[in-house]
Amino acid sequence: MVINSQETMEKIVSLCKRRGFVYPGSEIYGGLANSWDYGPYGTELKNNIKQAWWKMFVKRRDDVVGIDAALIMNPKVWEASGHLGAGFSDPLVECRNCHERFKVDQLNLKDPCPSCGKKGMFTEPRQFNVLMKTFLGVVEGEKSAAYLRGETAQAMFVDFKLVLNSNRQRVPFGIAQIGKAFRNEITPGNYIFRTREFEQMEIEYFIRAKDWKKQFDYWLEQMKGWMDFLGLNKKHIHFREIAEDERAHYSKRTIDIEYDFPFGTKELYGLAYRTNFDLKNHQSASGQDMSYTDPVTNEKFIPHVIEPTFGVDRSVLAVLCESYAEEKIKDDERVVLRFPKHLAPIKIAVFPLLKNKSELVKKAQEIYDDLREKYMCEFDDNGNIGKRYRRQDEIGTPYCVTIDFDTLENKTVTVRDRDTMKQERVVIADLNTFFHDHLSGC
Ligand code: ATP
Repeated sequence: MVINSQETMEKIVSLCKRRGFVYPGSEIYGGLANSWDYGPYGTELKNNIKQAWWKMFVKRRDDVVGIDAALIMNPKVWEASGHLGAGFSDPLVECRNCHERFKVDQLNLKDPCPSCGKKGMFTEPRQFNVLMKTFLGVVEGEKSAAYLRGETAQAMFVDFKLVLNSNRQRVPFGIAQIGKAFRNEITPGNYIFRTREFEQMEIEYFIRAKDWKKQFDYWLEQMKGWMDFLGLNKKHIHFREIAEDERAHYSKRTIDIEYDFPFGTKELYGLAYRTNFDLKNHQSASGQDMSYTDPVTNEKFIPHVIEPTFGVDRSVLAVLCESYAEEKIKDDERVVLRFPKHLAPIKIAVFPLLKNKSELVKKAQEIYDDLREKYMCEFDDNGNIGKRYRRQDEIGTPYCVTIDFDTLENKTVTVRDRDTMKQERVVIADLNTFFHDHLSGC
């Protein structure tokens, strides 16, 4: 649904804690600012998103391969990429509204933000480095200083030749990765939207320079297809062409894909044409040849790159916001997470009508054991059926199966649909076919 209000956001945050999607991190010690833990249902939801992404962009494609690189890379990587450059060691301020950062000496702090136009939103000036520093080994010193990676992208550039040599890919081809990234954000906030530790799903798609426009358009369409798959309403998605003076220094074209979160319209994903900036820089910094020679035409060149980048946590948040609904039913109200079925953490909940009737419990257990071989299921025999339905609605379970006294007579169960709330009787022997049809693609 997505309503632009702080109240909706608070309701989502509260539901997520109460039902086990997202908890405040380290809560028993008073928490740690802007750190969050995914609970059991949040973990399922997040894994479903990551696995579906991998399936769409790696498994189903011949031209993209995946890697899983180390979080801590040689610090020279970050020198070459520009993350440790002079721009990051000057005192900077950040606009609390749009999160653009500016060098203090280029700004009058009383003026409105040059990027979003809001007044009075600048942080105090700080020496700012986006990378999180750590030390390797037991002795702390500059020699052992290293950084947690600030983006997953760099590993795809650094490993470019290794992938090429081991996997017989020909340009155009892509390298994909899902993993954690760390940034010392000055102003984290908005729940899991902006944290210092987060997860990314990124593709570096290596191309010939002349093809960049065609490839850029192609990947924009792929990203739209992915957002459809997440069930995000097109009306809530906006494509913001980033002007030249706002773009990262390496980018010749960038589109920010924004989503109408309850706290405002903010960046969900990005698509950038990074030219061959990264491979070229790694070639000169490492002294290693990063060029590609086409095995058929013998052309030799340093490939250019189109980079579609997707935040995992922002995907989870967008799906939660999009799916959250409050409904009036007769005199009652219900909260339901209308997840697309393929993303729902639990696909089927199985209930014996009464907890203290062993025939019902035994039959329900049998059905549960059978269904859980194929689908993520949950068994629940607590409280009355109405309450159990409400609980499953709140965690977005598409189907509930109830085993009652008729089951023992006529070998049927009731299947209740989350969205329509309609119940139908299905013969136990037909349950597998029923769910094969109703949960296809799950
Ligand atoms: P922003 O402008 O919001 O800081 P960015 O343009 O710096 O984001 P990128 O460097 O393009 O972000 O990172 C790629 C993706 O990673 C973003 O589109 C977003 O989905 C996600 N991301 C970036 N920073 C964070 C963060 N601090 N917390 C959660 N997700 C993030």
